[in-house]
Amino acid sequence: MNVIPLEFMRSLNTNLPHSVPLATCQWCNWWVQFQEIDNEIVIFLGWKSFLWKHELKVSDILVFKLQHCGFKVKIFSAAFSTQVSCLCSSD
Ligand SMILES: [Zn+2]
Repeated sequence: MNVIPLEFMRSLNTNLPHSVPLATCQWCNWWVQFQEIDNEIVIFLGWKSFLWKHELKVSDILVFKLQHCGFKVKIFSAAFSTQVSCLCSSD
């Protein structure tokens, strides 16, 4: 789940830094690091915290949108076919 296809990263037509923020809402501030492994981009540092905080489950769908130097992330629940609200605002 933490693999981003290399073709997607190339299609962004920009050189992202190895460390970028992911945000699902204005209160989100999750920094993750990318690494290229076997022609794929793997999100490693920070990813598990992002998964845990947003209670992501297998088969949930994430949509990444490039914004500035990071990604806006929309989360869709596979179980309920709805967009999931970010839990970061409840801190
Ligand atoms: Zn969040």
